[in-house]
Amino acid sequence: ARQEIDLKHYIRHIPDFPKPGILFYDISTLMRNPDAWQMAMGRLARQVAPFKPDILAAVESRGFLTAAPLADRLGCGMLMLRKRGKLPGKTVSHTYDLEYGSDTLEIQHDAVQPGQRVVIMDDLLATGGTLAASATLLQKAGADVVAASVLVELTGLGGRARLGDIPVTTLLSYD
Ligand code: 5GP
Repeated sequence: ARQEIDLKHYIRHIPDFPKPGILFYDISTLMRNPDAWQMAMGRLARQVAPFKPDILAAVESRGFLTAAPLADRLGCGMLMLRKRGKLPGKTVSHTYDLEYGSDTLEIQHDAVQPGQRVVIMDDLLATGGTLAASATLLQKAGADVVAASVLVELTGLGGRARLGDIPVTTLLSYD
């Protein structure tokens, strides 16, 4: 078998961030290592390419980090899914419930054409709330959401069930 880098080695675990009791999976230690980051983007590209996306939808803000290099590798476009008030011009938005309160995601009104094949990109899947809200918003805009792709999945939280029948690809899984 080909010798491959164990990318989990490059994910740093930071306790009590952003709140006491939460363990944060930090991808900055993966990004700062050129060999590991290049390997990660190569593997990500191989996972996403079979879905033949027209455009990658990057979730603010760490989804931007994987979507940009991947769009370049796959020769497709990308768009930004942002928090309320960040995007210029006419937007389409979707407000969704959080554990405490709510949040709003927006895209520009002409970001996707009806029927375009979209893969949603984020760094990490936890409860699935962010990806589910992103999928709903993109579908509202007429997109064909064909997959979602993350670097890290926390499988114990069952987040991928929130995506219904949209497949989710993952580079690294943790229980
Ligand atoms: P979910 O909506 O699935 O519960 O949470 C995923 C979202 O929160 C993603 O946008 C992700 O960037 C962020 N997130 C939550 N926990 C972590 C974590 O431990 N590490 C990183 N890098 N992002 C996290």
